[in-house]
Amino acid sequence: MLVVMQPNASAADIERVCDEIVRQGFKPLPMPGETRTAIGLLGDDSKIDWSHIEGLPSVASVLIVQKPYRQAAREWKTESTIVEIAPGVRVGGNEVVVFAGPCSVESEEQIIASARAVLAGGATALRGGAFKPRSSPYAFQGLGLRGLQLLALARAETGLAIVTEAMDEHGADLVAEYADCIQIGARNMQNYSLLRHVGKMGKPVLLKRGMAATINDLLLSAEYVLSEGNPNVILCERGVRTFDSATRNLFDLTAIPVVHKLSHLPIVADPSHGTGLRDKVIPMARAAVACGADGILVEVHPTPDKALSDGAQSLYPEQFVQLVRELKAIASAIERSIAPPPVKAPVSAT
Ligand code: PEP
Ligand code: MN
Repeated sequence: MLVVMQPNASAADIERVCDEIVRQGFKPLPMPGETRTAIGLLGDDSKIDWSHIEGLPSVASVLIVQKPYRQAAREWKTESTIVEIAPGVRVGGNEVVVFAGPCSVESEEQIIASARAVLAGGATALRGGAFKPRSSPYAFQGLGLRGLQLLALARAETGLAIVTEAMDEHGADLVAEYADCIQIGARNMQNYSLLRHVGKMGKPVLLKRGMAATINDLLLSAEYVLSEGNPNVILCERGVRTFDSATRNLFDLTAIPVVHKLSHLPIVADPSHGTGLRDKVIPMARAAVACGADGILVEVHPTPDKALSDGAQSLYPEQFVQLVRELKAIASAIERSIAPPPVKAPVSAT
Protein backbone atom coordinates (compact mmCIF):
# COMPACT_ATOMS: atom_id res chain seq x y z
CA MET A 1 0.00 0.00 0.00
CA LEU A 2 1.10 3.50 -0.75
CA VAL A 3 -0.17 6.72 0.85
CA VAL A 4 0.22 9.70 -1.46
CA MET A 5 0.33 13.02 0.38
CA GLN A 6 -0.89 16.34 -1.01
CA PRO A 7 1.90 18.60 -2.38
CA ASN A 8 1.52 21.03 0.54
CA ALA A 9 1.56 18.38 3.29
CA SER A 10 3.57 19.50 6.32
CA ALA A 11 6.21 17.42 8.07
CA ALA A 12 3.74 17.01 10.94
CA ASP A 13 1.06 15.62 8.57
CA ILE A 14 3.57 13.12 7.18
CA GLU A 15 4.62 12.10 10.66
CA ARG A 16 1.01 11.61 11.68
CA VAL A 17 0.47 9.17 8.81
CA CYS A 18 3.69 7.32 9.72
CA ASP A 19 2.54 7.11 13.36
CA GLU A 20 -0.80 5.64 12.30
CA ILE A 21 0.96 3.05 10.14
CA VAL A 22 3.16 2.10 13.11
CA ARG A 23 0.10 1.98 15.40
CA GLN A 24 -1.46 -0.58 13.07
CA GLY A 25 1.72 -2.70 13.30
CA PHE A 26 3.43 -1.90 10.01
CA LYS A 27 6.60 -0.17 8.93
CA PRO A 28 6.27 3.20 7.12
CA LEU A 29 8.71 4.14 4.39
CA PRO A 30 8.46 7.87 3.53
CA MET A 31 9.65 8.68 0.01
CA PRO A 32 9.94 12.41 -0.65
CA GLY A 33 9.39 13.12 -4.36
CA GLU A 34 9.88 16.22 -6.46
CA THR A 35 6.36 17.53 -5.86
CA ARG A 36 4.95 15.37 -3.07
CA THR A 37 5.79 12.71 -0.55
CA ALA A 38 4.53 9.16 -0.78
CA ILE A 39 4.64 6.82 2.21
CA GLY A 40 5.02 3.14 1.52
CA LEU A 41 3.73 0.57 3.96
CA LEU A 42 5.80 -2.55 4.43
CA GLY A 43 4.42 -5.86 5.59
CA ASP A 44 1.33 -7.90 4.79
CA ASP A 45 -1.09 -5.06 4.17
CA SER A 46 -4.14 -7.25 3.57
CA LYS A 47 -5.45 -6.57 7.08
CA ILE A 48 -4.79 -2.85 7.33
CA ASP A 49 -7.62 -0.49 8.15
CA TRP A 50 -6.89 2.02 5.41
CA SER A 51 -9.98 4.15 6.08
CA HIS A 52 -8.20 5.55 9.16
CA ILE A 53 -5.28 6.61 7.03
CA GLU A 54 -7.35 8.02 4.20
CA GLY A 55 -9.08 10.44 6.59
CA LEU A 56 -5.88 11.97 8.00
CA PRO A 57 -4.96 15.58 7.09
CA SER A 58 -3.16 16.15 3.75
CA VAL A 59 -3.63 12.57 2.51
CA ALA A 60 -4.36 12.79 -1.23
CA SER A 61 -4.97 9.10 -1.91
CA VAL A 62 -4.27 5.58 -0.80
CA LEU A 63 -3.12 3.16 -3.48
CA ILE A 64 -3.19 -0.57 -3.13
CA VAL A 65 -0.14 -1.92 -5.01
CA GLN A 66 -1.49 -5.00 -6.73
CA LYS A 67 1.86 -6.39 -7.89
CA PRO A 68 3.50 -9.05 -5.72
CA TYR A 69 6.79 -7.15 -5.98
CA ARG A 70 5.59 -4.03 -4.18
CA GLN A 71 8.68 -1.80 -3.93
CA ALA A 72 9.97 -2.74 -7.38
CA ALA A 73 6.65 -1.72 -8.96
CA ARG A 74 6.13 1.46 -10.97
CA GLU A 75 2.96 2.02 -8.94
CA TRP A 76 5.12 2.28 -5.82
CA LYS A 77 7.46 4.83 -7.36
CA THR A 78 6.55 6.51 -10.62
CA GLU A 79 9.90 8.26 -11.17
CA SER A 80 12.57 6.06 -12.73
CA THR A 81 15.30 5.07 -10.29
CA ILE A 82 18.83 6.14 -11.04
CA VAL A 83 21.52 4.00 -9.43
CA GLU A 84 24.86 5.72 -9.01
CA ILE A 85 27.48 2.98 -8.98
CA ALA A 86 30.47 5.32 -8.66
CA PRO A 87 30.74 9.12 -8.53
CA GLY A 88 29.06 10.39 -11.69
CA VAL A 89 28.29 6.91 -13.10
CA ARG A 90 24.51 6.82 -13.08
CA VAL A 91 22.44 3.98 -14.46
CA GLY A 92 18.80 4.69 -15.29
CA GLY A 93 19.02 8.30 -16.43
CA ASN A 94 19.34 9.61 -19.94
CA GLU A 95 22.84 8.25 -20.41
CA VAL A 96 23.31 4.65 -21.51
CA VAL A 97 26.19 3.14 -19.52
CA VAL A 98 28.62 0.79 -21.26
CA PHE A 99 30.04 -1.96 -19.01
CA ALA A 100 32.74 -3.92 -20.81
CA GLY A 101 35.56 -6.32 -20.10
CA PRO A 102 36.51 -9.96 -20.12
CA CYS A 103 34.39 -12.79 -18.79
CA SER A 104 37.04 -13.59 -16.15
CA VAL A 105 39.98 -11.82 -14.60
CA GLU A 106 42.87 -14.06 -15.68
CA SER A 107 46.08 -12.21 -14.84
CA GLU A 108 47.35 -8.71 -14.12
CA GLU A 109 48.52 -8.29 -17.69
CA GLN A 110 45.16 -9.44 -19.12
CA ILE A 111 42.93 -7.28 -16.91
CA ILE A 112 45.04 -4.16 -17.32
CA ALA A 113 45.13 -4.64 -21.09
CA SER A 114 41.34 -5.19 -21.06
CA ALA A 115 40.72 -2.11 -18.93
CA ARG A 116 42.86 0.08 -21.17
CA ALA A 117 41.18 -1.27 -24.29
CA VAL A 118 37.62 -0.74 -23.06
CA LEU A 119 38.48 2.70 -21.70
CA ALA A 120 39.92 3.68 -25.08
CA GLY A 121 36.81 2.26 -26.77
CA GLY A 122 34.44 4.35 -24.65
CA ALA A 123 33.35 2.17 -21.71
CA THR A 124 32.45 3.72 -18.36
CA ALA A 125 32.68 0.56 -16.27
CA LEU A 126 34.87 -2.54 -16.29
CA ARG A 127 33.32 -5.98 -15.85
CA GLY A 128 35.23 -9.18 -15.14
CA GLY A 129 34.63 -12.16 -12.88
CA ALA A 130 36.89 -13.11 -9.98
CA PHE A 131 34.45 -15.74 -8.71
CA LYS A 132 33.19 -17.70 -11.70
CA PRO A 133 30.07 -19.88 -11.67
CA ARG A 134 31.15 -22.54 -14.18
CA SER A 135 28.98 -25.42 -15.35
CA SER A 136 31.92 -27.80 -14.91
CA PRO A 137 33.80 -28.03 -11.61
CA TYR A 138 36.96 -28.70 -13.66
CA ALA A 139 36.75 -25.45 -15.64
CA PHE A 140 38.62 -22.27 -14.59
CA GLN A 141 36.89 -21.02 -11.43
CA GLY A 142 38.39 -17.52 -11.31
CA LEU A 143 41.23 -16.01 -9.29
CA GLY A 144 39.05 -15.20 -6.25
CA LEU A 145 40.46 -12.55 -3.93
CA ARG A 146 43.49 -12.01 -6.19
CA GLY A 147 41.08 -11.27 -9.03
CA LEU A 148 39.35 -8.60 -6.93
CA GLN A 149 42.70 -7.02 -6.11
CA LEU A 150 43.54 -6.93 -9.80
CA LEU A 151 40.20 -5.27 -10.59
CA ALA A 152 40.95 -2.61 -7.98
CA LEU A 153 44.31 -2.11 -9.63
CA ALA A 154 42.62 -1.69 -13.01
CA ARG A 155 40.30 0.92 -11.50
CA ALA A 156 43.27 2.79 -10.02
CA GLU A 157 44.91 2.69 -13.43
CA THR A 158 41.92 3.78 -15.53
CA GLY A 159 39.22 5.31 -13.32
CA LEU A 160 36.68 2.77 -14.64
CA ALA A 161 33.95 1.71 -12.18
CA ILE A 162 34.12 -2.01 -11.34
CA VAL A 163 31.32 -4.58 -11.56
CA THR A 164 32.04 -8.16 -10.55
CA GLU A 165 30.11 -11.21 -9.45
CA ALA A 166 29.61 -12.62 -5.97
CA MET A 167 28.43 -16.22 -5.68
CA ASP A 168 27.84 -16.38 -1.93
CA GLU A 169 27.57 -14.20 1.16
CA HIS A 170 31.27 -14.27 2.01
CA GLY A 171 32.13 -13.44 -1.61
CA ALA A 172 29.66 -10.53 -1.52
CA ASP A 173 31.46 -9.03 1.49
CA LEU A 174 34.76 -9.28 -0.37
CA VAL A 175 33.33 -7.89 -3.61
CA ALA A 176 31.84 -4.95 -1.68
CA GLU A 177 35.30 -4.12 -0.36
CA TYR A 178 36.95 -3.97 -3.79
CA ALA A 179 34.25 -3.22 -6.38
CA ASP A 180 31.61 -0.56 -7.04
CA CYS A 181 28.75 -2.88 -7.91
CA ILE A 182 28.00 -6.48 -6.91
CA GLN A 183 26.82 -8.69 -9.75
CA ILE A 184 24.41 -11.48 -8.87
CA GLY A 185 24.62 -13.94 -11.73
CA ALA A 186 21.85 -15.75 -13.55
CA ARG A 187 22.46 -18.94 -11.57
CA ASN A 188 22.00 -17.13 -8.27
CA MET A 189 19.02 -14.97 -9.18
CA GLN A 190 16.88 -17.06 -6.85
CA ASN A 191 19.45 -17.53 -4.10
CA TYR A 192 17.26 -15.75 -1.59
CA SER A 193 19.72 -15.78 1.30
CA LEU A 194 22.33 -14.13 -0.96
CA LEU A 195 19.74 -11.58 -2.13
CA ARG A 196 18.80 -10.74 1.46
CA HIS A 197 22.49 -10.43 2.32
CA VAL A 198 23.24 -7.90 -0.45
CA GLY A 199 19.98 -6.18 0.46
CA LYS A 200 21.47 -5.39 3.85
CA MET A 201 24.47 -3.76 2.18
CA GLY A 202 24.40 -0.30 0.63
CA LYS A 203 26.36 -1.31 -2.49
CA PRO A 204 24.64 -1.23 -5.86
CA VAL A 205 23.57 -4.65 -7.11
CA LEU A 206 23.41 -5.77 -10.73
CA LEU A 207 20.85 -8.57 -10.73
CA LYS A 208 20.90 -10.82 -13.78
CA ARG A 209 17.81 -12.64 -14.98
CA GLY A 210 17.91 -16.38 -14.33
CA MET A 211 18.07 -18.54 -17.41
CA ALA A 212 14.62 -19.99 -16.72
CA ALA A 213 13.15 -17.02 -14.89
CA THR A 214 10.09 -15.04 -15.90
CA ILE A 215 10.12 -11.25 -15.66
CA ASN A 216 7.85 -11.62 -12.63
CA ASP A 217 10.47 -13.89 -10.99
CA LEU A 218 13.19 -11.32 -11.75
CA LEU A 219 11.20 -8.49 -10.18
CA LEU A 220 10.41 -10.63 -7.12
CA SER A 221 14.13 -11.32 -6.71
CA ALA A 222 14.79 -7.57 -6.90
CA GLU A 223 12.14 -7.16 -4.21
CA TYR A 224 14.23 -9.33 -1.84
CA VAL A 225 17.06 -6.80 -2.14
CA LEU A 226 14.78 -3.76 -1.88
CA SER A 227 12.85 -5.18 1.06
CA GLU A 228 16.07 -5.37 3.09
CA GLY A 229 16.64 -1.64 2.57
CA ASN A 230 18.98 -1.49 -0.43
CA PRO A 231 17.32 0.62 -3.16
CA ASN A 232 20.29 0.38 -5.55
CA VAL A 233 19.20 -2.42 -7.86
CA ILE A 234 19.99 -2.60 -11.57
CA LEU A 235 18.32 -5.42 -13.49
CA CYS A 236 19.99 -7.23 -16.38
CA GLU A 237 18.50 -9.18 -19.27
CA ARG A 238 20.99 -11.88 -20.34
CA GLY A 239 18.86 -14.32 -22.27
CA VAL A 240 16.77 -17.33 -21.33
CA ARG A 241 16.93 -21.00 -22.31
CA THR A 242 14.64 -22.21 -25.02
CA PHE A 243 14.39 -25.16 -27.41
CA ASP A 244 16.42 -23.40 -30.10
CA SER A 245 20.13 -24.20 -30.14
CA ALA A 246 21.03 -21.64 -32.84
CA THR A 247 22.26 -19.29 -30.10
CA ARG A 248 23.43 -19.95 -26.53
CA ASN A 249 20.28 -18.34 -25.10
CA LEU A 250 17.26 -16.50 -26.41
CA PHE A 251 18.07 -12.84 -25.80
CA ASP A 252 14.72 -11.48 -24.66
CA LEU A 253 14.83 -7.85 -25.65
CA THR A 254 11.10 -7.51 -25.09
CA ALA A 255 11.98 -7.64 -21.40
CA ILE A 256 13.46 -4.13 -21.64
CA PRO A 257 10.25 -2.21 -22.43
CA VAL A 258 8.21 -4.67 -20.35
CA VAL A 259 10.35 -4.00 -17.26
CA HIS A 260 10.31 -0.26 -17.88
CA LYS A 261 6.52 -0.35 -17.78
CA LEU A 262 6.24 -2.59 -14.73
CA SER A 263 9.11 -1.22 -12.67
CA HIS A 264 11.01 1.99 -11.92
CA LEU A 265 14.30 0.07 -11.70
CA PRO A 266 16.90 0.48 -14.46
CA ILE A 267 17.57 -2.47 -16.75
CA VAL A 268 20.71 -3.15 -18.76
CA ALA A 269 21.22 -5.75 -21.47
CA ASP A 270 23.96 -8.37 -21.87
CA PRO A 271 24.09 -9.45 -25.52
CA SER A 272 27.25 -11.51 -24.86
CA HIS A 273 25.62 -14.16 -22.68
CA GLY A 274 22.33 -13.45 -24.45
CA THR A 275 23.65 -14.82 -27.74
CA GLY A 276 26.93 -16.59 -26.94
CA LEU A 277 28.30 -15.80 -30.39
CA ARG A 278 30.62 -12.91 -31.19
CA ASP A 279 29.03 -12.03 -34.51
CA LYS A 280 25.57 -11.83 -32.90
CA VAL A 281 26.72 -9.59 -30.04
CA ILE A 282 27.10 -6.46 -32.14
CA PRO A 283 23.66 -6.45 -33.82
CA MET A 284 21.94 -7.34 -30.54
CA ALA A 285 23.81 -4.65 -28.60
CA ARG A 286 22.60 -2.13 -31.17
CA ALA A 287 19.06 -3.45 -30.80
CA ALA A 288 19.27 -3.28 -27.00
CA VAL A 289 20.12 0.41 -27.04
CA ALA A 290 17.42 1.03 -29.63
CA CYS A 291 14.76 -0.59 -27.43
CA GLY A 292 15.67 1.48 -24.38
CA ALA A 293 18.23 -0.47 -22.32
CA ASP A 294 19.83 1.73 -19.65
CA GLY A 295 23.18 0.11 -20.25
CA ILE A 296 25.04 -2.57 -22.18
CA LEU A 297 27.17 -5.26 -20.59
CA VAL A 298 29.52 -6.67 -23.17
CA GLU A 299 32.44 -9.09 -22.99
CA VAL A 300 35.67 -7.81 -24.55
CA HIS A 301 39.03 -9.60 -24.36
CA PRO A 302 42.44 -8.47 -25.63
CA THR A 303 42.99 -11.96 -27.12
CA PRO A 304 39.61 -13.76 -27.19
CA ASP A 305 41.11 -16.89 -28.74
CA LYS A 306 43.15 -17.41 -25.58
CA ALA A 307 40.40 -16.53 -23.09
CA LEU A 308 39.92 -18.91 -20.16
CA SER A 309 36.13 -18.49 -20.36
CA ASP A 310 33.61 -17.27 -22.94
CA GLY A 311 36.18 -16.48 -25.65
CA ALA A 312 33.71 -17.28 -28.43
CA GLN A 313 31.40 -14.45 -27.37
CA SER A 314 34.10 -11.92 -26.47
CA LEU A 315 34.65 -9.02 -28.84
CA TYR A 316 38.08 -8.05 -30.13
CA PRO A 317 39.01 -4.57 -28.86
CA GLU A 318 38.69 -3.07 -32.36
CA GLN A 319 35.17 -4.48 -32.69
CA PHE A 320 34.29 -2.84 -29.39
CA VAL A 321 35.54 0.54 -30.59
CA GLN A 322 33.34 0.25 -33.66
CA LEU A 323 30.36 -0.92 -31.56
CA VAL A 324 30.48 2.08 -29.21
CA ARG A 325 30.71 4.41 -32.19
CA GLU A 326 27.51 2.86 -33.56
CA LEU A 327 25.78 2.89 -30.18
CA LYS A 328 26.35 6.64 -29.95
CA ALA A 329 24.42 7.16 -33.19
CA ILE A 330 21.59 4.88 -32.06
CA ALA A 331 21.35 6.54 -28.64
CA SER A 332 21.21 9.96 -30.21
CA ALA A 333 18.38 8.86 -32.52
CA ILE A 334 16.26 8.17 -29.42
CA GLU A 335 17.41 11.34 -27.65
CA ARG A 336 19.76 9.58 -25.27
CA SER A 337 23.53 9.52 -25.14
CA ILE A 338 26.26 7.07 -24.24
CA ALA A 339 27.77 7.83 -20.81
CA PRO A 340 31.27 9.26 -21.22
CA PRO A 341 34.29 7.22 -20.17
CA PRO A 342 35.97 8.46 -16.98
CA VAL A 343 38.46 11.24 -17.30
CA LYS A 344 41.36 9.36 -15.77
CA ALA A 345 40.67 9.87 -12.08
CA PRO A 346 42.65 7.17 -10.36
CA VAL A 347 41.50 6.09 -6.92
CA SER A 348 43.28 3.98 -4.33
CA ALA A 349 43.72 0.31 -5.27
CA THR A 350 42.27 -0.89 -1.96
C1 PEP B 1 29.00 -13.32 -16.45
O1 PEP B 1 28.54 -12.17 -16.52
O2 PEP B 1 30.21 -13.58 -16.65
C2 PEP B 1 28.10 -14.47 -16.18
C3 PEP B 1 28.55 -15.60 -15.66
O3 PEP B 1 26.85 -14.20 -16.55
P1 PEP B 1 25.47 -15.01 -16.30
O4 PEP B 1 25.29 -15.08 -14.81
O5 PEP B 1 24.46 -14.14 -16.97
O6 PEP B 1 25.61 -16.35 -16.94
MN1 MN C 1 31.00 -14.79 -19.31
